[in-house]
Amino acid sequence: MKISIVGAGASSLFCSYFLIKKGHSVDLYEKESTAFKKFLIAGKSGLNITNDEELDSFHYNYFENKDLFKGLLKDFSKEDTKAWLQELGIENFVGSSKKVFPKTFKAAGLIKKIKDYLEESNRFNLYLNHKLIDFDNEKLYFEDSSVKYDKAILALGGASWKKTGSDGQFLSIFTSKNIKVNEFKPSNCGFISNIKSEKRIPIKNAVFSFMDKSIRAEALITEYGIEGGAIYPLSSYIRSNLDKSLYIDFYPDKSVEKIIDEFNALSNKLSYSNKLKKVFPFDKDLFEVIKRSLTKDEYLNFNKYLMTIKSFRVEIKRPVDIDQAISTSGGVCFTQLEDDFSLKEYSNIYLTGEMLDWEAPTGGFLIQGCFSISYRIIHALSLLYSM
Ligand SMILES: Cc1cc2nc3c(=O)[nH]c(=O)nc-3n(C[C@H](O)[C@H](O)[C@H](O)COP(=O)(O)OP(=O)(O)OC[C@H]3O[C@@H](n4cnc5c(N)ncnc54)[C@H](O)[C@@H]3O)c2cc1C
Repeated sequence: MKISIVGAGASSLFCSYFLIKKGHSVDLYEKESTAFKKFLIAGKSGLNITNDEELDSFHYNYFENKDLFKGLLKDFSKEDTKAWLQELGIENFVGSSKKVFPKTFKAAGLIKKIKDYLEESNRFNLYLNHKLIDFDNEKLYFEDSSVKYDKAILALGGASWKKTGSDGQFLSIFTSKNIKVNEFKPSNCGFISNIKSEKRIPIKNAVFSFMDKSIRAEALITEYGIEGGAIYPLSSYIRSNLDKSLYIDFYPDKSVEKIIDEFNALSNKLSYSNKLKKVFPFDKDLFEVIKRSLTKDEYLNFNKYLMTIKSFRVEIKRPVDIDQAISTSGGVCFTQLEDDFSLKEYSNIYLTGEMLDWEAPTGGFLIQGCFSISYRIIHALSLLYSM
């Protein structure tokens, strides 16, 4: 059976591999002049291909879609991703925050292995510069051509990092057919806020709290506000509650009482600012940002200073522009799909990846999500064609 796939990204690479392995033929169409750009960029500074979080709690990373992903992850879990990497000869390791990396850190080696496998099969064709502009029950329509399909998988991505091709423009194809979509919004993104600095300043070993969620991780103060590993997992909550503040405990390892004792024990020969430097092990740029947030009187009042360190209030203005976000929420709604991810109104068209309305933190949960959805489709197609 020949399967047509549109959108050359992480999901379609996965689908192509397993479809070819099962003996099918694949025609993969991509609108850009090169394929897999987003996947390559994701893997530039260290690809988190999945995460080693416990199997029992993994699905909680998919927020309101956790029940759906619980089922999907049962069928294709982080262990299956690791086993697949082994099968491909890609060594992997578990790094900080349980992120799973290929040993080479980058996506390029993995992509090359899979592409070589696909090309060797002689049942795989890649068509670049093919922008999907419409579909019906028989054909996929590209800007300059159309093709008949039996089964098609659309894997058109989200709407951030447009230079990779993932621009979200395809949503209009669905709205024109009354297929329900939600607008794309930035996810795993930084926020414009009152804490900012011309020089990028890392915040290490702090606890970041937003409403009832707390995360101990690192973040970065930037020229516009705040971003980084601690902020991304909170981004969906922050985005939906912009009237609430984020709080940072810059020194979670010591209690207020212990810090006061240490401060009081210091010699009075030391200046006030030197005492602060002795008590708080911060980088000088961070000291400066904290000082700037206080009036002179507040700075000179140790109790007020300490309260600021233990609960620094970050006023959030808005998320960064969607194009700067690592991923997006929004896309085609799950209500428009059958359990096998085929469209209710177009039963031979399946949808996968970030083009669907779900979100998850970075750290491997996004790509794992793409793989787990894609696996459900592969499984459905295998059942159909084994009869
Ligand atoms: C900087 C960065 C770092 C990241 N790091 C990680 C990470 O470490 N771990 C992780 O899990 N995730 C990471 N991600 C997110 C991850 O890359 C994406 O979630 C994932 O690539 C989504 O895969 P996809 O197959 O859904 O879509 P994509 O990989 O975005 O592919 C979609 C493809 O569809 C094509 N397309 C779109 N519209 C059309 C059309 N009309 N016709 C034809 N083709 C079309 C696009 O050009 C694109 O090539 C990162 C993202 C970024 C930007």
